[in-house]
Amino acid sequence: MNRLSFQLPDFTRIVWVSDYIKSIWLERITRICNAFSKLEVISVVEDLRRCALLLLDTKQRNTISEYGKKHGLVSLPISRVGITKQQYSVEEIPYLGYGPYRTRTVLAKKKYANDFMEAWQCNDQRIIGTLLGYPTCCTEFFINTWLDGCFKDTTWPMAIGTCSTQIEEKYSEVIGPREANILWRWTGVRAVPHLPCSFNCFKTALFGKALWNLKNTFNKEREWLHQILDLQVEWSCLHGIAIILTPILKVITRSEATPTKYTVIRHGNKCLQESWINNN
Ligand SMILES: [Zn+2]
Repeated sequence: MNRLSFQLPDFTRIVWVSDYIKSIWLERITRICNAFSKLEVISVVEDLRRCALLLLDTKQRNTISEYGKKHGLVSLPISRVGITKQQYSVEEIPYLGYGPYRTRTVLAKKKYANDFMEAWQCNDQRIIGTLLGYPTCCTEFFINTWLDGCFKDTTWPMAIGTCSTQIEEKYSEVIGPREANILWRWTGVRAVPHLPCSFNCFKTALFGKALWNLKNTFNKEREWLHQILDLQVEWSCLHGIAIILTPILKVITRSEATPTKYTVIRHGNKCLQESWINNN
């Protein structure tokens, strides 16, 4: 990807296609996000992974601490960060020492808590990724693109890593399991906590399926999540701004500064989407 030497400040705007669609789907998206937060915690209790990294306000910290104790887990604070209203922000807002904040907290099985803290202090991303249950392919992708490559929007490298129909050098059509569709993350909707290495990452699909099937709970939220992730999405990026077009809303957000337009299309299930968008 040909990138220019500037980055715009982090921002995200969401524009709904209509008030009617918003009246139906905003609440559902909120419920999906709440379910995802709870599943992140349950995933440690249920041994799907050893640790979870959470961003909690004071009330949530107390709740998680009590809940963790009941299930033999420990929650340890790592750092304080400022509060943003956005569901997804690329960069943490630094906490300036006053006003509201949230605490980055690790929730861990007791025997893994020290391992996580040591890895965090050494910035050992491979151990951190393993403890958080992330697929090794995705951890390597994160190191190569996010850390070493300084990408703040990994969509194009993901598309390159996918066995996709690459019609032109800057245009890609991708397919893959819905769990690896991370193109809704700016709305908060996501099936997995990590950045998948590609749109067809098999290990991400397995992890996402296992996460959303834990204790057979949040069935309605899972159904809505699947409907959303199966919609067609078009991501395009130009001059540092990405526009993500979907049948129910449009996201405008900060991306990589490119001199020319890059496009990724993930095809959805067209029959499904026309029937449910307006009738559910
Ligand atoms: Zn992967």
